[in-house]
Amino acid sequence: MPTSSNIGSTPDAVDIAVVGAGIIGVTCALSLARHGLRVTVVDAQEPGHGASYGNAGHLAAEQVFPIADISILQRIPAMLIDPMGPLRLDWKYLPRALPWFARLVLNLRSEPFQQTVAGLRQLNEASLGAWERLLESIGHADLLQKRGSLLVFERAESLETVDPLRKRWLQQGVPVEFWSAQAVRDAAPELSERLLGGLFFQETGHFIDPYLAVCRLVEAAEAGGVRFFQQQVHGGRLHAHGVSLATSQGELNARRVLIACGAHSAPLVAQLTGTRVPLDTERGYHLMLPHEHGRLPFPVTSLERKFIMTPMSGGLRLAGTVEFAGLDSPARMKRAWQLHRLSEGLFHRDLDAKDATTWMGRRPSLPDSLPVIDQVCDGRVLLAFGHQHLGLTQAAITAEWIAQLAVVLQPGAAAASHALPDLSAYRLGRF
Ligand SMILES: Cc1cc2nc3c(=O)[nH]c(=O)nc-3n(C[C@H](O)[C@H](O)[C@H](O)COP(=O)(O)OP(=O)(O)OC[C@H]3O[C@@H](n4cnc5c(N)ncnc54)[C@H](O)[C@@H]3O)c2cc1C
Repeated sequence: MPTSSNIGSTPDAVDIAVVGAGIIGVTCALSLARHGLRVTVVDAQEPGHGASYGNAGHLAAEQVFPIADISILQRIPAMLIDPMGPLRLDWKYLPRALPWFARLVLNLRSEPFQQTVAGLRQLNEASLGAWERLLESIGHADLLQKRGSLLVFERAESLETVDPLRKRWLQQGVPVEFWSAQAVRDAAPELSERLLGGLFFQETGHFIDPYLAVCRLVEAAEAGGVRFFQQQVHGGRLHAHGVSLATSQGELNARRVLIACGAHSAPLVAQLTGTRVPLDTERGYHLMLPHEHGRLPFPVTSLERKFIMTPMSGGLRLAGTVEFAGLDSPARMKRAWQLHRLSEGLFHRDLDAKDATTWMGRRPSLPDSLPVIDQVCDGRVLLAFGHQHLGLTQAAITAEWIAQLAVVLQPGAAAASHALPDLSAYRLGRF
C-alpha cells in the first residue's frame, strides 16, 4: 500500500476520507464508491491487519443478545484470579475498566437492554442478505459458506439452560432447532459422544478466510476507484470546506471523513465531534490449526467451554475469550494455546496443534453492545465503529447504511432517503 503524501491536497479532490481499513472501513469505502463518491482510505497498517484479520469468521446473525451481561460483574473476582479463564481482567487495568463496567450494568436495565436487543436484531437480520449481495457483486460468493452453526452442550444440567435459551431466540425471530446427541453426531461425526445435544442456527454462515475477504474487497474497491494509503492519522479539524486530517505523511483534505478505526476510534471522534465515547476493547485470541481439515462442516461453539471452532480454508480456527487489558498491553499468547486445551475431549481424536499459529485482536466494544453508525457535524463526519463481537457479521449491512446516509446528504439526493432504515439506535448522541 503506498504512503504518498499527495493524496488530497484540496478538499474537492476527495469526497470521503475513510480512516481505517478493517472490514468496516473497506466495505464502507467500496459501498461509498459505488454511490459515485471519490473515496480515499488511510490506515496505519496494511488493510485487514486489525481485529478483522483473525476473527472466528462466524456470520453470527443469531447473536441478538449482548455477550457482555451482568454475570461479568459477578465474575470479576474469578477473572482477576484465573488468568486462563474465558474472561480475564488485568489487575492494572481494573481502575480504567470500572467506568465501562458501570455503564454496562446500567444498560442491563430492562428498557436499555430491550433497545440493545432491538438494535442488534435490526443489524443481524439484515446481515446475511447484505453479505450475499456484496460478495456476489465482487464475484467471491464462495468466501461465505451458508451452512449454519451449532451450539453444543455436554453437561446434563445444561439442558435446563438450553431450552429457555431456544425459546428466547425464537421469541426474537431467530430460526433455531434443538438437536439431539444423535443429530449432532450425524451432522458432525468427528465430534465426541460426550456431547448431549445442541442448538442449530440455520440462518448463519461462516467465512472460509476473513482476511482474504478483506483483501478481495480491497481489490474490488481499488477497481472501483478507491485509493488506499498506509498512513497513521494523528488528528484532524473541521472547517467550512470539510475536514483536514493530520497524517504521518502530511495533511489529507476531504469534504467528509468516515471514522472506522475499530477499537482506536475514540480519540479522533472526540477531536472532530467533541463527544467522548466510552469505547474499550474486549481482546480475543485465536489458535489456527493448519493440519486440521474436514473435522467440522460448520462453526461449533461449546456452551460450557465458551469458545468457537470454525472450519476455514487454512485449517481449523479455535477462537474466543474476552480479556480486559486495554489497547496497548502485550498479548498473552498462552491464552491462545489455552484454546487447544479447551478442545480436548470434544473430538474422538484430539486436534493436531503442529505448526499452529497464535493471534490476538481487539474487539471495539461500547458498553451497550451496539455500534455507532451515524453522521454528525452537518454530514462532514460519518461514523462506523464499535461493532464489538459482531464486526464481521455486521460489516456489509453497515456499509449499505453508511452509503445511504452519505448519499442522502448529497445535494439533490432526497429521493434516496426512502431506503434508509431508522438508525436511531446507533446514533453518536446516545453518549
Ligand atoms: C478473537 C476474535 C474473534 C471474533 N470473531 C468474530 C466472528 O466470528 N464474527 C464476527 O462478526 N466478529 C468477530 N469478531 C469481531 C470482529 O473481528 C470485529 O468486530 C471487527 O473486525 C471490527 O472491524 P473494524 O474494521 O471496526 O476494526 P479493525 O479490523 O480493527 O480495523 C480498524 C483499522 O483502523 C486502523 N486504525 C486505527 N487507528 C488508526 C489511525 N489513527 N490512523 C490510521 N488507521 C488507524 C487500524 O490499523 C485497523 O486496521 C471477533 C474478534 C476477535 C478478536
